[in-house]
Amino acid sequence: MSSILVVLSVQDGRIKRSSLEGLSRAVFVSKKLQWDVSVAIFHGDAPSFVEEAGQYGAKTAYCVSNPIFNSHLNTPWITGLSKVIELAKPRLVVVASTESTKDILGAVAIRSQAAVLSDVATFDVATFDVAGDIVVCERPIMAAKMMAATQSKEPLVIVSLRSGSYEAVKTTETSAEINIVAVPFDFDSGTLTATLKEIVRSTGETVDLSEAKIVVAAGRGVKDAAGKALIDELASITGAAVGASRAVVESGLFPATAQIGQTGKVVSPELYFAVGISGAIQHVAGMSNSRVIVAINKDADAPIFDVATYGLVGDCFKILPILNAELKKILS
Ligand SMILES: Cc1cc2nc3c(=O)[nH]c(=O)nc-3n(C[C@H](O)[C@H](O)[C@H](O)COP(=O)(O)OP(=O)(O)OC[C@H]3O[C@@H](n4cnc5c(N)ncnc54)[C@H](O)[C@@H]3O)c2cc1C
Repeated sequence: MSSILVVLSVQDGRIKRSSLEGLSRAVFVSKKLQWDVSVAIFHGDAPSFVEEAGQYGAKTAYCVSNPIFNSHLNTPWITGLSKVIELAKPRLVVVASTESTKDILGAVAIRSQAAVLSDVATFDVATFDVAGDIVVCERPIMAAKMMAATQSKEPLVIVSLRSGSYEAVKTTETSAEINIVAVPFDFDSGTLTATLKEIVRSTGETVDLSEAKIVVAAGRGVKDAAGKALIDELASITGAAVGASRAVVESGLFPATAQIGQTGKVVSPELYFAVGISGAIQHVAGMSNSRVIVAINKDADAPIFDVATYGLVGDCFKILPILNAELKKILS
């Protein structure tokens, strides 16, 4: 039987939401094809994440336990993932599209003789009598203005999936025991030519932007430190991560790590506040997958209102103090 292998990324002791989204989609696709779904977990204590993987519908878990995986290093990941692919022999491998996976997929593809469809927003498997199974994907191009249809009929295909493309849903099926395969993995860290010395978080970063459920993003309309304080207050009341347009990153008001868009981070929160952001395509490319978008802008014709779910036309310096006070009452 063919199968889909989903690689679960673990960060700060949790399976990343983007990986669970890929797993949920894989479960959906595999059901109609009657394929198996397995997961690969790379961590110092990989089995501790198996139960959660089962709740999302995985039937088999390949556990590669080694502390070397607690931080991302390309070489062990390439070796480990290639090894699991060799063991599991999947037809399709799904990984979350992140900076780390962008770094390793080319090497994994060469080792495993796989085709890679990268940074896709959808994936499916179409079955044909003559052509057999074809992996079909859609991929945003030209700053997400257009979608390109891509496909591969290679026997092994790896797709990297943009976060927020699907919902992560727990399976309603009474879960049978999940089959655990312990994959032995010895790695001599002395052979590494590049090592990780330290992970430096940007100051004030309390919530990871790429995984955040709520994002408060500021644009040029936020203007100055007083505006930034209102943004920080809204983020702190709602437990949000703070993002920014390139304009306010370039002005030095926000750090480069906060930039969202074509040349920044891609985010897909449940709620996105765009404050004083015009909605240039390069910005929208990084946030259009957000579930609910609330735009605050004093220009009623700003393009951000074309993608917004709710729009507030007005001066953010007048709106934010009222919004913050009201939200504080509700949420505290
Ligand atoms: C190759 C390339 C890559 C790029 N990559 C990115 C990227 O990754 N991310 C990104 O963001 N941009 C990117 N840009 C830049 C992008 O084109 C825009 O210039 C940028 O997004 C504009 O930022 P902004 O919306 O904050 O500013 P502006 O376009 O200047 O808009 C400011 C908005 O604030 C509103 N406003 C002003 N005062 C107030 C107020 N008091 N209250 C409420 N609203 C107010 C205005 O009406 C206006 O709509 C890129 C550009 C290029 C060429």
